Amino acid sequence: MALVRVALDARSYDILIEQGALDRAGDTLKPYARNGRLVVVTDTNVAATQLPRLDTSLRAAGIMVEPIILPPGEQTKSWRHLEQLLDALLALEIERGDHIVALGGGVIGDLVGFAASILKRGCRFIQVPTTLLAQVDSSVGGKTAINARAGKNLIGSFYQPALVLIDPSTLDSLPPRETRAGYAEVVKYGLIDDPAFFAWCESDGHRLLAGDADARTHAIGRSVQAKAAIVADDERETTGRRALLNLGHTFGHALEADTGFSDRLLHGEGVAAGMALAFRYSARLGLCPQADADRVTAHLQAVGLPHDLATAHVTADGAGLVGHMLHDKKMAAGTLPFLLARGIGATFLSKDVVLDDVAAFLDAER
Ligand code: NAD
Ligand code: ZN
Repeated sequence: MALVRVALDARSYDILIEQGALDRAGDTLKPYARNGRLVVVTDTNVAATQLPRLDTSLRAAGIMVEPIILPPGEQTKSWRHLEQLLDALLALEIERGDHIVALGGGVIGDLVGFAASILKRGCRFIQVPTTLLAQVDSSVGGKTAINARAGKNLIGSFYQPALVLIDPSTLDSLPPRETRAGYAEVVKYGLIDDPAFFAWCESDGHRLLAGDADARTHAIGRSVQAKAAIVADDERETTGRRALLNLGHTFGHALEADTGFSDRLLHGEGVAAGMALAFRYSARLGLCPQADADRVTAHLQAVGLPHDLATAHVTADGAGLVGHMLHDKKMAAGTLPFLLARGIGATFLSKDVVLDDVAAFLDAER
């Protein structure tokens, strides 16, 4: 078992990572079940695969389970489903001292976290993430959100969970493509500031992807440690440190926009190609050794993740992709703050990237 603590002034919380944790959740979650009851919010895919495990262990511990089951997919992060969820929680007479359990991927975690932050001016909630992306990224850090017509994640709050309970074995039922996409965010932590962890990914990442429990637990533990440290440093993205978590995301976001945020390119797949582009662009600027950029590209390719425009199924030219970046909320007056690298494990935020030059680089990549 691994235990990571997110240290935030008044609201520190634990992240527990343990193979089989779902089957022992009755004991772990008993202290959180006020009046012997827990509301569990999940989606239909997770209800079919992982909810029975949680349900069985909670009931064995004498906890009554009230499930709320929502449709799967990004569309569920909407006003409509938020309203439905809040009404369902109120119908169950949720009180401020109650803990709502979010069992699922980032969609469920983001939606339930936001609902918890506004229901009765703030209820407690517990994250039980079931995708690799949610386990290493979205369940930690306290960003909650729904999507708006104007863009993704534009309505939300910073709201920390009371506990994050991670069972790597929930990934057994996750489609391999989703696991691989989440793995891109794992690699990201190595690339940001931990070259030894990137080297571990190169040598052992394939074990994680093949379902090895120890490799999963190690990688999830290392990732949440990295994220917890950054979040403790910069909870509300004010000092710039938290921005490092966006490595590969400016390029990646443009690739996702070009593919219409569709199943053609999952978020993590866009991030994978985006990180490869960020390293190659850094090499082109003479900031980063070409050999490091080549290593990044080679590893992503070896595990079957997109690593260039062709493998990301992107057709737009450089100007078109830069146009997508300009719609990014992080744009400031003609330049984009851009995460570049001086090498593997040496990422930094550059404020003087010239967009025309980025477009020329992307054209050369086509
Ligand atoms: P997701 O929640 O849509 O899950 C992906 C798919 O896998 C869904 O179809 C889901 O039903 C299914 N699924 C989940 N767990 C399963 C399991 N164990 N077995 C079988 N099927 C399972 O997507 P995601 O990739 O987990 O999360 C993406 C969301 O996370 C986006 O909305 C993104 O904005 C958000 N996000 C938030 C943060 C944050 O800091 N809050 C960070 C990164 C991403
Ligand atoms: Zn991401």
